[in-house]
Amino acid sequence: MYSPSAAGSADNTTAGSRAFRYEVTGLRQNSESDKNGYAVRKSGSVFFTVPYSRMNEFMRRITRLGGKIVSIVPITVGSGHGDPQPPAPVAVAATPEPAPAPAAVPAPAASHEHIFPTNVPVNTYKPKNPFVGKVISNEPLVREGGEGIVQHLTFNLSGGDLRYLEGQSIGIIPPGTDKNGKPNKLRLYSIASTQHGDLLDDKTVSLCVRQLVYTNDAGERVEGVCSTFLCNVQPGDDVVITGPVGKEMLLPVDPTANIIMMGTGTGIAPFRAFLWRMFKENNPEYQFKGLAWLFFGVAYSGNVLYKDDLEKMQAENPDHCRITYAISREQQTAQGGKMYIQERIKENADELWALVQQPNTHVYICGLRGMEPGIDEGMSAAASKYGVNWADYQKQMRKEERWHVETY
Ligand SMILES: Cc1cc2nc3c(=O)[nH]c(=O)nc-3n(C[C@H](O)[C@H](O)[C@H](O)COP(=O)(O)OP(=O)(O)OC[C@H]3O[C@@H](n4cnc5c(N)ncnc54)[C@H](O)[C@@H]3O)c2cc1C
Repeated sequence: MYSPSAAGSADNTTAGSRAFRYEVTGLRQNSESDKNGYAVRKSGSVFFTVPYSRMNEFMRRITRLGGKIVSIVPITVGSGHGDPQPPAPVAVAATPEPAPAPAAVPAPAASHEHIFPTNVPVNTYKPKNPFVGKVISNEPLVREGGEGIVQHLTFNLSGGDLRYLEGQSIGIIPPGTDKNGKPNKLRLYSIASTQHGDLLDDKTVSLCVRQLVYTNDAGERVEGVCSTFLCNVQPGDDVVITGPVGKEMLLPVDPTANIIMMGTGTGIAPFRAFLWRMFKENNPEYQFKGLAWLFFGVAYSGNVLYKDDLEKMQAENPDHCRITYAISREQQTAQGGKMYIQERIKENADELWALVQQPNTHVYICGLRGMEPGIDEGMSAAASKYGVNWADYQKQMRKEERWHVETY
């Protein structure tokens, strides 16, 4: 059960330590809650002081107790007498009818080299000197009722020097020539495996590839060159690989960071790598203790890629892993509209807003170009409930390298 001292209100007296003042509603006062030692005010609010190191734990407890976090205000624990300095209201002004609020300024984050891994490998193999890997497997990911062809491919990297990190991409050069008779150019694909590879031997890389198919202006069916090549390769075939590239989608090294992932379709690829690293591998340097929350948008439930694995991870790590689907052609909003990812964001606005105000929360967006405006719409709805301008807040998050986007 919840106890304020476990959350830090009683023991947060160390001079100079960082702490946050939480206002929570929805916690009932009764004989049972009395044992937990918090007093519900007439307004329905309860206030807690929580040290930085216990924010995630606190959030989970509040969620379990059915409470709603309505504001988080950083405080400086000062002189060693245990009295917090007057709080500097920076983040939210939580009132039922939002009054004009001060401009939101997220609490300060650490500098780049403290947040992300150093020595990120980049362009080990360039188009003029690529690595030739062999296909190990090529498995379908779309299940009954789903549309299109999406494959999970694994390549053997033995004999080369291609190392990569979660969140990076590789280039694939398809065989053949383009319409001008020139050798085909490379296409980028987000890496779907962890740095250790699906076989955990540091010798493979995996991709999640959708075959591009469309009808051109003349009414002809056109198949994408590289995606069609990849979706049809067989074990033992050669694949020409470049890279790795990309530093935008790297995971923070802090295992207590919160990772909010918003993906559509094959945009799941880097998130599969993140989640495997968090929950399927046992990396001594990365024992994940934050909250990983995946918002995954697809057209049909048959298109929920890696469904069984995702749901198993969620079931096995209920305090750390959360998955929210938006299945546009099958689920509906309360108003009867199609369930796109931004609708799920709006539904979870309060919690998301409280999370993004934590200085160790990172948001990642990956998938179809065009998904960003919807996400901004959802986040704007969340922020405006508290009188905050989302565009300003997002700008600040980008500056702090906590807002990561890779769309294509
Ligand atoms: C950083 C990054 C990561 C990526 N990660 C992935 C990934 O993980 N998985 C994945 O499947 N893809 C991913 N892609 C996309 C991938 O790089 C290719 O663009 C995609 O596979 C299509 O390549 P292709 O050779 O099959 O198509 P191409 O033969 O190159 O055809 C593409 C071209 O077709 C035309 N076209 C496309 N759709 C239509 C349409 N509806 N109507 C008319 N014309 C159209 C456009 O001119 C387009 O440029 C990623 C892209 C980037 C930049």
